Amino acid sequence: MELLDCDRLLANRCRRRNFLLGAGFLTGLTITSQWHPVWANPRFSDYPFSLGVASGDPLPDGVVIWTRLAPNPLFGGGMALQNVPVRWRVASDENMRKIVRRGTTLATPELAHSVHVDVRGLDPDRWYWYQFQVGREFSPIGRTRTAPAFFGSISQLNFAFVSCQDWQNGFYTAFQHLAEENLDLVVHLGDYIYEYGPRSGAPRQHNGPEIITLEDYRNRHALYKTDPNLQAAHATCPWIVTWDDHEVDNNYANLIPEDNQTLEAFTKRRANAYQAYYEHMPLRRSSLPKGPDMLLYRRFTFGNLAEFNVLDTRQYRTNQPCDDGLKPRCPAALDSNATMTGSEQEQWLFKGLDQSRSRWNVIAQQTMFAQYNFNSTLDLGVFNMDQWDGYVAARDRILNFLNQRRASNPIVITGDIHSSWVHDLKLDFDHPNSPTIGTEFVGTSISSDFPSQFIAPVQASLSNNPHTKFFDGAFRGYVRCQLTPALWQSDYRVVSSITDLNASVKTLASYVVQNGQPGALINSGLT
Ligand code: FE
Ligand code: CA
Repeated sequence: MELLDCDRLLANRCRRRNFLLGAGFLTGLTITSQWHPVWANPRFSDYPFSLGVASGDPLPDGVVIWTRLAPNPLFGGGMALQNVPVRWRVASDENMRKIVRRGTTLATPELAHSVHVDVRGLDPDRWYWYQFQVGREFSPIGRTRTAPAFFGSISQLNFAFVSCQDWQNGFYTAFQHLAEENLDLVVHLGDYIYEYGPRSGAPRQHNGPEIITLEDYRNRHALYKTDPNLQAAHATCPWIVTWDDHEVDNNYANLIPEDNQTLEAFTKRRANAYQAYYEHMPLRRSSLPKGPDMLLYRRFTFGNLAEFNVLDTRQYRTNQPCDDGLKPRCPAALDSNATMTGSEQEQWLFKGLDQSRSRWNVIAQQTMFAQYNFNSTLDLGVFNMDQWDGYVAARDRILNFLNQRRASNPIVITGDIHSSWVHDLKLDFDHPNSPTIGTEFVGTSISSDFPSQFIAPVQASLSNNPHTKFFDGAFRGYVRCQLTPALWQSDYRVVSSITDLNASVKTLASYVVQNGQPGALINSGLT
């Protein structure tokens, strides 16, 4: 148990701690000064925990707990250039009486006074509650859960996956309902923020023009985190997050921006975006960015039941082929050197799948993995070049690997496209009789728009894609998944509205996968 009393040991121990933190920064972030005074008895102009609390990246013995001090969240946070001791406590009861771990950490200006505590020494597979304190101010209490013991036998896992929460398009009514689902885990598949400037007539507005600087990205993350429904969802269980494109710039690939920024300018922009992302997410220090680079792909194991391979398909990908967009494939879409993951991450994925002892092997990633021909006639295939359809050789390598190495029950979960889909993953999508080797569940957006004029054309093209079992573009929501050793069930939970804060939730569709039988079956007993 860490029992560092910063108030008493101010003079040396906190400063020494600060020095250690600073040494870590030297390899990573650009900083102007790491020698800020420690502000021992802080007082704030306003409530400093305006962005709520969060936890994430659960392990059998620990979890990361997060907050950020931001009394003035939309204008740089409102904190002085001082290091501030923040106390944290973890309890085994919701009233915070049975404290099992506690400590003090420093919130520093270099990381926008965000706090990431990697709490260790916890018991596997159980609920904990946590709270922060700074000066006389207390944060809300968050609830979190450790992962089950490695390879331990567990009977069930309940999680939901979400993506795409454009602030301007509506309210987070989906998160309001998600927070009431009693989930063990939430997986966020990206587009946590959007980089755009304000849009006239939107239900709510972004704070300022398209974001470029570190301060811009911080203020945008802060805006999103002020949402009470998002805060409630974070406070209810641990999250595993990965990003897609809008955390930086629409459809960027590696260091290639959407618009014509110079390489130098975009490299700096990516560094700003990655740093602000780290500052606002419950991530372990192993994900601390180093300039424009940040390690976000990682793996989580839930006993012998499920393993999540969390991918980053933006940071290392080759440029979208054929000038991006929805179109017939040009030769570059078949280029064997094209990659979504980069070769290092691809090898890491294969190694992990090979060594896995889990019943369900989840690939948690961003863009649609299955082939989908958007043309309603059969004369010419029309594909989305930002999805795996623009990176055919890379997808084939994964499909062939899964087929040859017989990974147990591969399941791909996907965001990005703001609509709901279920696909059987075929070894060869052009031949309906080729083996089904996995299943893909694509979740709709929390709030981001799927233009209604796209719905009918997609429906018209469904018959050209017999491996696609389900599509809906009308509803916003999340996918609730219940896993047992015998069955995977995905419930498409959708809200009645994102403009009415009293929206209701319902299950629009439900599909199951049986152990050992890849491919989705409709589940008619909706709940
Ligand atoms: Fe999106
Ligand atoms: Ca996206």
